[in-house]
Parts: sequence; C-alpha cells; structure tokens
Amino acid sequence: MRLSKYFLPILKENPKDAEIVSHRLMARAGMIKQQSAGIYSWLPLGKRVLDKVNTIIREEQNRSGAIEILMPTIQSAELWQESGRYDDYGQEMLRIEDRHERPMLYGPTNEEMVTDIFRSYVRSYKSLPLNLYHIQTKFRDERRPRFGTMRSREFLMKDAYSFDIDKEGAVHAYNRMFTAYLRTFDRMGLKAIPMRADTGPIGGDLSHEFIILADTGESEVFCHKDYLDFPIPADVTDFDDKAGLQAIVDKWTSRYAATSEMHDEAAWDAVAEGEKLSARGIEVGHIFYFGTKYSEPMKGMVMGPDGREHPVHMGSYGIGPTRVVAAIVEASHDENGIIWPKGVAPFDAGLINMKPGDAACDAACEKLETALEAAGLEVLYDDTDERAGAKFATADLIGLPVQVIAGPRAVAEGNVEIKIRATGERETLAIDDAINRLTQAR
Ligand code: ATP
Ligand code: MG
Repeated sequence: MRLSKYFLPILKENPKDAEIVSHRLMARAGMIKQQSAGIYSWLPLGKRVLDKVNTIIREEQNRSGAIEILMPTIQSAELWQESGRYDDYGQEMLRIEDRHERPMLYGPTNEEMVTDIFRSYVRSYKSLPLNLYHIQTKFRDERRPRFGTMRSREFLMKDAYSFDIDKEGAVHAYNRMFTAYLRTFDRMGLKAIPMRADTGPIGGDLSHEFIILADTGESEVFCHKDYLDFPIPADVTDFDDKAGLQAIVDKWTSRYAATSEMHDEAAWDAVAEGEKLSARGIEVGHIFYFGTKYSEPMKGMVMGPDGREHPVHMGSYGIGPTRVVAAIVEASHDENGIIWPKGVAPFDAGLINMKPGDAACDAACEKLETALEAAGLEVLYDDTDERAGAKFATADLIGLPVQVIAGPRAVAEGNVEIKIRATGERETLAIDDAINRLTQAR
C-alpha cells in the first residue's frame, strides 16, 4: 500500500477529551473518529487492526469447536419479556419502536435470541454439545462512555453460547472457552489473567474475567505473580480431551486472582508478600456458566438419554474486540507512539523513502516493496513528499513492527536501514539481505 494513495489522517494534537493514552494514540494515528458520545467510526488503519483481532478470535473459537453464526442487532422485545430481562435491564438498553408501534431494542447481548434459535431446532441430547458464536455490534447506553473504544456505547462483541445436556458437559464447554481465551489473548501479544468473577444468584465458581494489567484499567485487581509466566496451551491442544482441558484450567486457577468485587482479604494475606501483584486491570473477556437461567423460562428443552425432557445447560463467553484494540495500545506503546505486537499489526512493515523522486531511492523502494509483498508481507510504503522528520514521527506513531528506511546515501552503496520499532535498534544491511531478513522473520 502506498501512503500517497492511502487514507491516514494523522492528528498533530491530542483530542481534548482523550483522558488515556490509548485513546490519544488511536485518535492521533488516524485509527478512529468519534461520531457522537461513545460511538466511533473505524478508519482504515484501525479497521485493519480490528480485522486482525477478529481473525485471531475466529480462528481460536473455531479451533475450540465453536461454530460461527450471525444474529441481528435489532431484537424484538418479546424474547426479552419471555426471559424476564426486558424490565430488569434498565437504561443501558436502547429501546425503540417500529412503525407498527412494536417494541424493539438494539441488542446489548444475545442470550435470549440464541436460546430461541436453539429451541427452534434442537430436540435431543444427541445434537449436543453445541456452541454458537457471532461477532456483532452491540449497544449499551453506558452512563459514562469514555476512554475511546475502551468503554463505548456502540461496540463489537464476540459472544459465544454453549449448550449441554448437564452440568458436567457444560463444565467441559466452559473449559474449552477458557483455554481458547488463553490462546486468543496470547496471540494478540497480551498477558490476560483469568480472575474469578461474580456469578450473582447462579452461584458456583464458573465465571472468570480475563484481565489485562494496565495502570489506566477501571478495575482494581489482585493476583499472584506466577500468572505472568504460566505456559499458554499449544495450538495442538485437543479440545475433546476433558481431563487435559481440566488440567489446564486447574493450573490457571491454582493461584490467587480476583477483581475487587471478589477480593478475599484472608486468602490474599496468605500470599507471600513478594508474590503479590496488586494493580489495575482492563476486562477484555468474560466467561460465565449460568445453567438453566434462560432455558427454563424460555423452554429450551432437550430429550436426555433417560427419555425425559431437560432444560439445556448454557454458558456465555464474551470478548470485546473494539475494547481489545485499545487495551493492546494501552499495554504496548512508548512516548513516540504505538508498538503493535506482530499478530495484530495493521501492516507487517513500513517502508520509508527518504527522497522520493531520486531515481536510486525510488528503484530501491520499489524493489523492496515488490519482494516483500511477493513473500506475503503487508507493506505500507511512505512515498510521500513529507520531511524526513515527519515521516519518522508518523512511522513511530503508527507503530509498525519494522521500518525499512531508504536514504540516498545508504542506497548509493546498495544498502538500507532496518529499524525495530519495539527496541529502537537500527541496522544497515544490503538490500537483498534486508529482504531476506524480513521475509524469514515471518
Ligand atoms: P464492564 O464491566 O467493563 O462494563 P461487562 O461486564 O458489562 O463489562 P460483558 O457483558 O461481560 O461486559 O461483555 C463481554 C465483553 O464485552 C467485555 O469483557 C468487554 O470486553 C466487552 N465490553 C462490554 N462493555 C463494553 C463497552 N461499553 N465498550 C467496549 N467493550 C465492552
Ligand atoms: Mg463482564
């Protein structure tokens, strides 16, 4: 992609209302534009990151056995009246009326609708287990939308819903998602720690929030340091191996980890002083087993092996991709801008032509662009007439993992410079060596 033909509206100034660094950097890097309170457009650079995040989520959901669907954003109030949540949900729910004066709503979540899909088709335990997910826009009329896409009113959510004949099956479904989430966040370059979350009236211990440690996080969290180095389950993990997955979940819940709502002072005191990590955190995912809470009132029944009808056991599993993008920036930046982890970078490499119009620089850059793209790398080629300083500042701000810099002096000797964004390391290499280095590092 040539920058001269791209749409990258870089801002020189921080937006006034941007209180946290991720909001400032995402706005300045031309990733997002606010349209009204808590409602954002995703501009090209932001859209690319969001797509990468969604791709990772999809791949890991599919790997774990979940199946993708797409439910609508607008829902009929009737379903919510059936579950009893229509009145309970309160002002966060955006209620609307169609031209026939029928009450509708913009979905804040989809438990009711997915239960309706389930009950329309599934009759027998033989069709279970089943886990259906979608990645769809949600709306919650948050009291205080803030921090950019971190807490917005309109946001994207991946929400998955599992169906099992009994609690034992549902626990396995829960463990599948727990494991998938560990892999998902790791692939995005995030250290997400599962922390016990409130299960409300359902009870039990099957609810975890996946939390990123960051100073600007909205929740106060307490956890054992060991979690920072626990191993992430491999891509060959067998998601049908019940005992294997239980062992992963047992390990990842073996140390203390809780948000302030679930904090237990006595248990915390038992953790050795040097092992304690008390910090602030961002909730990027939430998984929850809620049994028959919706299937009972909504008659989501299945025939069991005993020949009788049972309400199906359900769980729901959310990740907020639009919040995740902000959380990644919050966790990975420096004073010059964003530092994208490889897995989610909008482009793999930036190519900077220091003197467009100079025949040797142009030829070197075109050679690099062609070779890197042929090897499957996504390259953003800065072929604009900006000053060198402005080009470097933009490159650092948008945070591509590697920058290839082609200046007239180096190019005259057949060389270019490579800069690693994360460390600032620079190295001068022959053009062909630079191509080899970058294509092999993939
Ligand atoms: P919070 O406690 O932060 O308000 P929640 O517990 O209400 O979130 P869930 O219903 O568990 O959120 O939603 C699942 C996921 O959706 C969250 O873990 C988060 O990643 C994302 N999410 C929820 N609300 C928002 C929001 N207002 N803006 C962006 N993402 C959100
Ligand atoms: Mg939550």
